[in-house]
This record gives sequence, C-alpha cells and structure tokens, in this order.
Amino acid sequence: MIFQGMADFRASGFTPRIGIIGSGPAGITIARKLAQAKIPSVILEAGDADYTDESQDFYKGKVVGDSYFDLDVCRLRFLGGSSNHWAGWCRVLEAHDFLPKPYIPHSGWPITRADIEPFLPEAFDILGIQPFRPDVPISNDMKWYELIKSEHVHFGEKYRDEIDKSTLIALVLNTEVLHLGGNGQVVTGASLMSQGAPAGELALDYYVVCTGGLENSRLLLWSNEQSNGGVVPNASALGRYWMEHPMYTTGAAILTNPDAIEFDADGHAFLQPTAEALARRGLLNFHIQVETAPYPGMKQYVADLACITPEWTEWISDELGSHLHCSAQVHMSWEQAPRPDNFVALSKTERDAAGMPRIELNWTKDAFERRTMLEGMRLFGETLAAQDMGRVKLSDWVLCGGPWPDGMELAGNHHMGGTRMGTDSLVSVVDGNSKVHGMANLYVGGSSVFATGGQCPPTTTVTTLAVRLGDHLGRVLSA
Ligand SMILES: Cc1cc2nc3c(=O)[nH]c(=O)nc-3n(C[C@H](O)[C@H](O)[C@H](O)COP(=O)(O)OP(=O)(O)OC[C@H]3O[C@@H](n4cnc5c(N)ncnc54)[C@H](O)[C@@H]3O)c2cc1C
Repeated sequence: MIFQGMADFRASGFTPRIGIIGSGPAGITIARKLAQAKIPSVILEAGDADYTDESQDFYKGKVVGDSYFDLDVCRLRFLGGSSNHWAGWCRVLEAHDFLPKPYIPHSGWPITRADIEPFLPEAFDILGIQPFRPDVPISNDMKWYELIKSEHVHFGEKYRDEIDKSTLIALVLNTEVLHLGGNGQVVTGASLMSQGAPAGELALDYYVVCTGGLENSRLLLWSNEQSNGGVVPNASALGRYWMEHPMYTTGAAILTNPDAIEFDADGHAFLQPTAEALARRGLLNFHIQVETAPYPGMKQYVADLACITPEWTEWISDELGSHLHCSAQVHMSWEQAPRPDNFVALSKTERDAAGMPRIELNWTKDAFERRTMLEGMRLFGETLAAQDMGRVKLSDWVLCGGPWPDGMELAGNHHMGGTRMGTDSLVSVVDGNSKVHGMANLYVGGSSVFATGGQCPPTTTVTTLAVRLGDHLGRVLSA
C-alpha cells in the first residue's frame, strides 16, 4: 500500500506494529523481511516518490574541517534514498574488519563476519549480484579481489510495485519524522509532519531509524534534545566516530605484465592488502584501484616524462625495455579510524523548514591516515617490483607530505558511524542486534551502525545487516 500522506494512511485503518523511518536500502529491506514474517509495518518516507528541490533542501548542512561534499549533494531525500544515485559498487566487509586491532583505537564490532554470512545470499539477490569470486594472492602482502559493479538497484523503483501490492507494508510518502519521544526505556511515539503540515503523533510497538548515515545521528540527537535524553539514554557516543572512505589519485604505474592482474571491462582492477600485512605494518585497511591507460597513451606519457624527468624515463627504458605494455593511474581509498572527534552535531544557528537544526559535520583526516596512504602505496610499489609486474611512482604530494590536493575524488559518499555498534554504551549507541542501548523498542538500520568502515563501499554490508535485522525483528515480534 502506498499513501501520499498521513491523512490517507489513517483513513485506511491499517494497523502496523512497527514504524520504519526512511525508505532507502535499509528501510525497504527491513520492511520486506518483516512482511515475510507476516509482521505489518509502516515505512515513513520524508520525500515524495521522485526528487523535489523542497525535500532536498532539508539535507543542507555545514562541514567543519577538511574539504567535503555539500551535504545536500552527497545523499538524496526521496523514495529509495541515496540508492537513486549510488554507483553500484558491491563488496562485503572482510572478516578482519569486524575484529579489534590493537593498533586502531575503538576498533572491533560486537559481531563477526560469521554472524552476517547466513544473510548474504538474500542480500546478493536484492542487489542482483552473484557471490564474489575468491581473492587471488599476488604476493604474501597483497591480493586481487572482486569488486562487483552491480546494476545499481534503485530500491524505490525496484520495490515500488511490490510495496504497493503488499497488504503488510504501508509506505507513507511526504511524511517526515520530526522527532521521537521517549522516557529512557521505550520510544513512546513519533512526531510527524506530513505534506508540509504538522500531522500529530504515531505510537507503535517498535521503531527502526533508517534515515541514512548522517541523518540517523541528526534525528536521534534532536529527539534526545526534545525528550531530555529519553530516546538515547546513553548518548556519549551519539553522532561520534563518524567515518568516510577518503579517496585520492596517489600515483601512476607502469605494468610490465598486466595479464597478471584481472581488469574489469572498464579497465579497473582492485587490490587490497592481506590482514597480516596490515597488522605487520600497523595500517588502516585500504584498497588500490589500478586504472589502465591504453598503449598509445603510454607512448605520449613517456614522451611527456622525457621532457620533465629524463632520469625517470631512462629508468623506465632500462628497467622495462621492450616489456613496456601498459600505463595506469593509481587511486587509493582507505578506512578512517573511528575517532570521537569526527562527529555529527546539531547546528546552533541553522534550521530546516520544519524547525529541526541542520547538521554540522565535523570531519578531518589525521596523521594515521596519512601514514596509511604513504605506506600503502609503498607496499603496492614493493609488491609490483618484487613480483616483477611493474613499477609505481608515488605522486609528489603523497611522498613529500604536501597538502591534500583539491580537484580529486575526495571520498566515496559513504557515511558511516554516528550510531556505532558495540557492547559498551560509553563508546557505542546500538548493540549487536542494532538495538539502542537501554531502549526496549528502538533500532537503527544503515551504515551509521558501522563500528569500523573497512575499505569497501558500504551498501552490500548495509543490505546484509538489514536482512539480518529484519529477520531478528520478525522473530522478536512473532514471539
Ligand atoms: C553519489 C553516491 C554514490 C554512491 N556509490 C556507492 C557505491 O558504489 N557502493 C556503495 O556500496 N554505496 C554507494 N553509495 C552509498 C549508498 O547510497 C548508501 O550506502 C545507501 O543509500 C544507504 O542506504 P540507507 O537506507 O541507509 O540510507 P539512504 O539511502 O540515505 O535512505 C534514507 C531515507 O530516509 C529518508 N529520510 C531522511 N530523513 C527522514 C525523516 N526524518 N523522516 C522520514 N524519512 C527520512 C530519506 O528521504 C531516504 O529515503 C553512494 C552514495 C552516493 C551519494
């Protein structure tokens, strides 16, 4: 069932037991899973079925710290959420991403990769992908891995008809949760605005906040402020430990044996370090993306280099001689350590049209990341050289510690942390089942629950966790 607003929904007499706030990959997946368990749910979606400037304006905010995207550009506020413009890169967090690492403060999840494995097939089916092929070691330190470019499922488009026909899922569009009310033990109701006007309260047995990796923090921070701490009673970690995947072009490579690495149809190959190499060097997880350039471009590249760095060109000729096959750009992306000083806060001065404080995102990269970038590139260079697969040139700014360059990729649009998973409520917000610590009926879905970010895009893990949470809630509500 799809309703344009709360008036129509209320007139329908439908009685859901659980309210899911947000219709992105997390929200829609949880509602579908609950429907399988015959649990009636309502999805409250702030935006319409399609993009509107009015709805998107609610996502404006401010970034304090390093250069980052405008907050109303790096996400979408309508049916299907940011899946409407995601790039479709799929991969699940590695087993070691869930484990505590002694050299990364606050690392480690309360669950392991084995806890999400049973839900992977269903997530793959939703995302329209096949299981990942096994990694291929290229040395003891690095391995090729498969990052699948899916058909970037737009969740709103894909599941709209199914939801419309469902007798167990009600989707209410144009309906924003302004804040949740709570007494420190249970959420007592959701305060709503629908079709631009106040729409009263909705009281249900359970609530799942799935409003995205920035907005989950914002909604809960504001709800807590409105209820005197009654929604997230242990709030010291709320909004904190926010993470992205910084991403930069960090060098160039000459590949003497490009056939040793598998490139996809677009000329991309992805390499990652082994868990042992990371531990030995004390680095954050990262990946290297090698993007090939065709041989004719290579000739021009060498010709250009001959003018700028004759010694290097000579070295290329000496070292590689007639084996010269292929040049490549090298990009690197890495996880950030979960740090309390990267955080989502409520603006003290700016509010949206409904009166909710806008986001102030405090975000920086630190020296640990800088070291990971430099040492990671060195590891990659050493690996290619040792295997006689090619040579790597690090960009000057990487090698010499220059400022972060403008005009590069910056980051992945991956919004993680803010309501992180953990056992200690001082440094986490939800438990291993995604339930807010101390609250009986409040859960969180999406990458805001990530305790660490790993090196891969988040949505495959988000979808898998959502299948798992839907399964869990189905059992809780059936009991
Ligand atoms: C340009 C871009 C490229 C990306 N590429 C990739 C990629 O290749 N691979 C990958 O894994 N990930 C990628 N991502 C990230 C991916 O889009 C997100 O991980 C995913 O959409 C998160 O799903 P979600 O359901 O948690 O949140 P969202 O998709 O953000 O959905 C949240 C929903 O909540 C609604 N909402 C917000 N506030 C309220 C409220 N108060 N009341 C009611 N509803 C509300 C919103 O309208 C929205 O529909 C990309 C993101 C961007 C922006």
